[in-house]
Amino acid sequence: MQNEDWSGTLFTQSPPGLGNQFDDDPLLGSWLKRSLPATLNAELHSELRELGALAGGELYRLQQADLAHEPVLTQWDAWGRRIDAVTVSPLWQRAERLAAQHGLVATGYDAALGRHARIAQFVKVYLFHPSSDVYTCPLAMTDGAARCLLEAGDQALIERAVPHLTSRDPATFWTSGQWMTETTGGSDVGRSETRAVPDGEGGWRLYGRKWFTSAVTSQMALTLARPEGNPPGGKGLAMFYLEIRDAEGQLNGIRVDRLKDKLGTRKVPTAELLLDGTRAWLVGPPLNGTRSIEPMLGVTRMWNSVCATAFMRRGLALARSYAKERKAFGQPLEQLPLHADTLAGLEAETWGAFLMTFLLVELNGRMEQGELDSEQRALLRLLTPLTKLITGKQAVGVVTEVIESFGGAGYVEDTGLPQLLRDTHVLPIWEGTTNVLALDALLRSDLPAGLAALMARASSCLRSVSEPRMVAATQQALGALERAALVLESGQEPEVLQAGARRLAMTLARALQLTLLCEHAQWMIDHGGDRRGYAAAMRFARQPVDLMTEVDPEADRLLLG
Ligand SMILES: Cc1cc2nc3c(=O)[nH]c(=O)nc-3n(C[C@H](O)[C@H](O)[C@H](O)COP(=O)(O)OP(=O)(O)OC[C@H]3O[C@@H](n4cnc5c(N)ncnc54)[C@H](O)[C@@H]3O)c2cc1C
Repeated sequence: MQNEDWSGTLFTQSPPGLGNQFDDDPLLGSWLKRSLPATLNAELHSELRELGALAGGELYRLQQADLAHEPVLTQWDAWGRRIDAVTVSPLWQRAERLAAQHGLVATGYDAALGRHARIAQFVKVYLFHPSSDVYTCPLAMTDGAARCLLEAGDQALIERAVPHLTSRDPATFWTSGQWMTETTGGSDVGRSETRAVPDGEGGWRLYGRKWFTSAVTSQMALTLARPEGNPPGGKGLAMFYLEIRDAEGQLNGIRVDRLKDKLGTRKVPTAELLLDGTRAWLVGPPLNGTRSIEPMLGVTRMWNSVCATAFMRRGLALARSYAKERKAFGQPLEQLPLHADTLAGLEAETWGAFLMTFLLVELNGRMEQGELDSEQRALLRLLTPLTKLITGKQAVGVVTEVIESFGGAGYVEDTGLPQLLRDTHVLPIWEGTTNVLALDALLRSDLPAGLAALMARASSCLRSVSEPRMVAATQQALGALERAALVLESGQEPEVLQAGARRLAMTLARALQLTLLCEHAQWMIDHGGDRRGYAAAMRFARQPVDLMTEVDPEADRLLLG
């Protein structure tokens, strides 16, 4: 019997497509116009369009064509020599060159850009990240390492490493690792077991095991270890600089035991390392290494927030494209009121995340130029953990809904959508989990100053808003902030404060996002009459902002047995 060929008559769904990711982003365009001098905005324009085209075109196609490629660890060569060589995907190799050429780290250190250097840098990162298969992970640590070394002020190490870390030439560009997490804990690094022993020549030798070391293909790393004789806990740790291979390409007393088999970020070679006499140099004092490495965390948390927002934007770009093409019940999905309402809710979350994230970016740029007063510095310290924690959670929520917006196709591997979901899930975990950051934000001694500065920033939004419904929405947000401040000032028992910290921190963050949305929406109306920002602000105001509830640690204990 002859098989009939049905293929010409069966329905075929056209896939979602991406346009130029810069041109297609009204929020990004309007925010840049509002935040940068016109000349700088014009100067950046062609490079941002180029990156937008790459991200929505060539890189995206490469990413989809290479979904299966993962890093490979080869521990032995053919003749029995231990080599621990790691190869990465073609997209990662391309991404490394592009990152250097476009100055994805270097732009942040471009003195000519002054207070706008971080904005120029992170707009590029925002466009690049979703098509890079998380190559932004080593870039974030590279940026953090450069900042750490500059702040520690060791001239020899600065001269040795910073020109590489901030190079725009792929031939001389280095990336850096950040090796903190051990089997004893990533949140509580004070329990780290790695020992540091003086080598008698002015350097140190490190002995221990680093349990999560992403991007093991870097040229250097900053790490924590305990100089012999130091006390236990975080105070007894010190920060060290090391280079991963020597001039002959041999590993520096490092064994790559295994690459992690992870839920997501599978293109990122995250390794378990054994340090066995690794040559290293002390950076900063021989104590309080957790304090020395803080600038790294400030920078990587900012990267995390930008990448979270960028993943939300990518998910929505795909979902909105699909909603134009895919039909159900006789109409494109975008015409179905409930589907449109679902996507609009996600769009509002993305706008809120973007505005808070780029406020953080802007403040960091000004801080590095020494332009912040003490109130603004306190705001920046509070904003860093708040932005990282809320955007990580928003990204997971938004991308989860994006998957559902594709129906069954969202669950199928070769659409690339499951990879997007899995990669997004790392954002609330690394660089500090949601709970750890909530406590970091709310238990710090300068919280009152940070809170006052946050209230002042939110109140300034009220002064710039005139549209009546946005005045009401801004007042709604200020009300939530005042309730949160009252809780924090009420002298709660530490146990109660800790148990409620996540909801409190999220309330602060969401309330700030709502005020920033109203402020930007008013600007968009006043500068050309675009009402999309207004729609985003109104929609966000209808989603939960004040998340605080009664806290009962006793009941929690009862429930958990
Ligand atoms: C893909 C990936 C790559 C990574 N790459 C690196 C890297 O390059 N370098 C590096 O140093 N690390 C890296 N990490 C490790 C990461 O930073 C840690 O996993 C993270 O900090 C959490 O630490 P932990 O895994 O030890 O969890 P734990 O610290 O054991 O935390 C477990 C749970 O307890 C909660 N918790 C902890 N303390 C408290 C508290 N006081 N109150 C309430 N809840 C609390 C946490 O929120 C979490 O839910 C990576 C992780 C992943 C997943």
